[in-house]
Amino acid sequence: MDEVKSFVQWKDPALEQELLDSISLDVPWSVVEKFSTLTRSSGSAEERAAIDTLIGHLKSWGVPYTLHEPECFISIPLKATVRSAEPEGKSYRAKTAAMAVSTGGKEIVGELVYIPAAKSAADTDEVFSVGVDIGADVAGKIVLTEGMASPGMVKDVMAAGALAGIFINPGQAIHEGICTTIWGTPDLDSMGRQPSIPVAAVNNPDGQELIALAKRGGKVALSTTLDTGWRKIPVLVAEISGANSSDEFVLLHGHLDSWFVGIGDNATGDATMLEVARVFWQQRDKLRRSLRIGWWSGHSHGRYAGSTWFADHFAIDLANHCVAQVNCDSPGCRWTNTFNELTAMSESEPFVDTVIRETTGITPQTERPVRAGDYSFNGIGITGFYMLGSTMSQELRDEKGYYPVGGGGANIQWHTEDDLMDIADRDNLLRDMRMYAASVLRVVNAPLYPFDWTRTTADIRATLATYQEATGDQFDFAMAREALDALEGALGRLYDTASTVDGAAAERFNFAQLRLARILVPVNFSRMESFFHDPALTVPPLPDLAPALSMPAARNDANSRGILQAHLTRGQNRLVWALQNAREVVEAASGA
Ligand SMILES: [Zn+2]
Repeated sequence: MDEVKSFVQWKDPALEQELLDSISLDVPWSVVEKFSTLTRSSGSAEERAAIDTLIGHLKSWGVPYTLHEPECFISIPLKATVRSAEPEGKSYRAKTAAMAVSTGGKEIVGELVYIPAAKSAADTDEVFSVGVDIGADVAGKIVLTEGMASPGMVKDVMAAGALAGIFINPGQAIHEGICTTIWGTPDLDSMGRQPSIPVAAVNNPDGQELIALAKRGGKVALSTTLDTGWRKIPVLVAEISGANSSDEFVLLHGHLDSWFVGIGDNATGDATMLEVARVFWQQRDKLRRSLRIGWWSGHSHGRYAGSTWFADHFAIDLANHCVAQVNCDSPGCRWTNTFNELTAMSESEPFVDTVIRETTGITPQTERPVRAGDYSFNGIGITGFYMLGSTMSQELRDEKGYYPVGGGGANIQWHTEDDLMDIADRDNLLRDMRMYAASVLRVVNAPLYPFDWTRTTADIRATLATYQEATGDQFDFAMAREALDALEGALGRLYDTASTVDGAAAERFNFAQLRLARILVPVNFSRMESFFHDPALTVPPLPDLAPALSMPAARNDANSRGILQAHLTRGQNRLVWALQNAREVVEAASGA
């Protein structure tokens, strides 16, 4: 890794020590235990009891908070049945996925067609995004394939005209999930993507029997029951005002709702955020900026409906004042001994690396944020870090025969009835709470926002090189490379002043840092207009230019090549304009 700039490594050792020493397991562990008795479906009474527990603590400490109760589009899966209909035979245990079509418990019958999954999910990202190549006539039939009932899978099965989809999970358990690609509550542009077929998931042994049935030309009967519609969900936001720049804030956030009692996903995260609220409130006189802490409902049953609602309804405040968003999902789980799948946008990598090594002794391996996990702020353009945090090493997972899942520190009880108290680990929770608190404190109090945008430009440069390699002489990204050179030059001049700026110059420095996020995050993470939300499907780096990778296949066909070149031209224009705006912002800050 390149040299880490000193403004990125800023800390207040005495205050940080005091803050971390005051972190205790007492309240957090009691919250985790309490939550182990509450099935926190979005908008349910038991979720409300969980909110009341959090509010009770906030009230007793005097921490200001607001409980919003927006009406959002929520889907609770209730029941699914799958049985062999021809020949008449066995019933299989099944679950449906949130947002799938409800048959109202009525069976539909269809010929079962087995489409082997091209590949299984290799990592956490692919748990959510991997699709299936249908390549057969499945119209009016029930498709059977391997994987979780994820949005990528269901989208492909739907597009092929299937009557329904049955998904074979990788192990003994059947994992709950949500199958829509619509991010948050639908709008006019996204409503058409609402899943239009019933969906069921079965476990692996039952799936093998169904494959055999499909190969014999059998039929299955399938029913689903869901409660889908508009319902009030809680969105709880605590606010601890900073002493100096109270308009500026860091947003720490995570989901409150869960599948079953969801201890590893995400009772431990809810407890972590509550403890952070407690210790930051004690030190509120010493905070430079404000801290907002959001507990969202609607994550599991509304595809991030709560965080999306917050992003929509506080969009302009977020755009003007949010320094960074820090997501807290599944900390403190058993056997987690690495930070090997740690989410961080490039500009935050040196910061995250420093703070995690200093607080845990573990060197993290960071990854580009996947299109999941309450990252509902990419369209606004907010630097984000963390999502899933501590996780088991690959060796440990191999040793246990664990397949990839999307949370719970890689414990495969994730999204099942078995995500119980034994998934939480006291020592790991304490470690992770300290890590979160130190990370938040450093951003809240750093005189200069501790993000290094030359990491982002380097990242963009590497992406462009990959795309240039693919397009060869059929498309030239020189214009983008030149704009990148100019931005890097300007950043170099600004960052050279970092050790001496204060007062108004520091404000200008921070304003530039904030605007860089608003300009560069969207071009690297979103295809949409600002304030709209991309689908819950993989967004590749520089998404407008990512189709460059298909040039080798398109280059010998005039039609495909021409269309692709037009797209890349427009995409490059968007990028160059963003880089040029970014450079102007940086030059204004350094008085150039
Ligand atoms: Zn989660």
